[in-house]
Amino acid sequence: MNTRAYAAMAAKEKLAPYEFDRRSVGSHDVALSIAYAGICHSDIHQAREEWGPAIFPMVPGHEIAGIVTAIGSSVTKFKVGDKIGVGVFVDSCRSCENCTQGLQQYCLEGMTGTYNQLERDGTTVAMGGYSNYFVINEDYAVHIPENLPLEGVAPLLCAGITLYSPIKHWKVGPGKKVAVMGLGGLGHMGVKFAVAMGAEVTVLSHSAKKKNDALAMGAHHFIETSDPAVFKANAKKFDVILNTVSAEINIDDYLSLLKLDGTLVVIGLPGKPYAVHVGTLLNGRRSIAGSMIGGIPELQEMLNFCAEKSIVSDVEVINATYINEAYERTVASDVKYRFVIDASTI
Ligand code: NAP
Ligand code: ZN
Ligand code: ZN
Repeated sequence: MNTRAYAAMAAKEKLAPYEFDRRSVGSHDVALSIAYAGICHSDIHQAREEWGPAIFPMVPGHEIAGIVTAIGSSVTKFKVGDKIGVGVFVDSCRSCENCTQGLQQYCLEGMTGTYNQLERDGTTVAMGGYSNYFVINEDYAVHIPENLPLEGVAPLLCAGITLYSPIKHWKVGPGKKVAVMGLGGLGHMGVKFAVAMGAEVTVLSHSAKKKNDALAMGAHHFIETSDPAVFKANAKKFDVILNTVSAEINIDDYLSLLKLDGTLVVIGLPGKPYAVHVGTLLNGRRSIAGSMIGGIPELQEMLNFCAEKSIVSDVEVINATYINEAYERTVASDVKYRFVIDASTI
């Protein structure tokens, strides 16, 4: 099926209109008309080859919200007209010990990314959500609750689940002090979820102008990190720190903010290794950990939680012609708090 999209034709090139064919709807596939696609900083990292060699032409986009337009003969999970979401992967091996636990993002063979990857046939280049039409195996898509607006839901498919999962795993809740580093697309969802779980939430930001927004999202405290004195003043304070910063930072400064047995969870992926002073880890039995998106069952659980608590992303809906400017503004930390492409403009 002919599909309209926006693609990067080479690393660091501006995205431009592009057309390609998607596969026909197989017996276990669903087809969807994309309504909105979020712009994740990972799209920018990959389109600019900040994570290493990439596949071009690249149609980025892994925060996809749309409406089912057709289903294959064996599909049982969806019907035409359903609201449907697609996230960061479209397939996995289905049989390894992680896949069988619903942790497809940690598939031992590697998950099949929504774009910038070959599909499991080994030849088809996966093309992402900056497009008007998508086809996916029903097992790798989720139901979007009726009461939530599609534009606010799209970013939940990556930014939302990527914070929900570590918040659940590290038991962020009542009595816990959690800090969220970076109030961007991921960070603002972290604030909303940690507040909803009942934790005491602090935002660590290098943008003083975001203070009022952070507090309006429910954060209890806001610390501006450009003054080095704040690291001493807030030493040994937090149980969990969720690092969503997309740029290289001195991770050691932030580790010093952890209390005894605290964990700093790395989520932001600038692409270069971090330097850690082992002494900072030893002093307080601190841990540094990582977390990557979430599996399909948890993705559905998160959306249901959002429906119950009326949580969506704060979005700026844009026309497709604005994608390149949106990239520049995202890199400049000038986003409130997720750009979402209106796919009808592609
Ligand atoms: P984003 O919207 O651009 O937010 C990143 C935030 O980091 C910015 O808003 C800014 O917050 C802070 N920041 C940026 N540059 C900084 C600098 N030079 N110094 C200090 N802070 C800075 O990006 P995003 O879409 O949320 O993604 C964040 C990162 O997570 C990216 O690296 C992305 O690739 C990665 N990611 C990881 C996963 C995963 O599964 N682990 C999933 C999705 C994305 P302040 O202005 O508040 O300081
Ligand atoms: Zn993402
Ligand atoms: Zn697997």
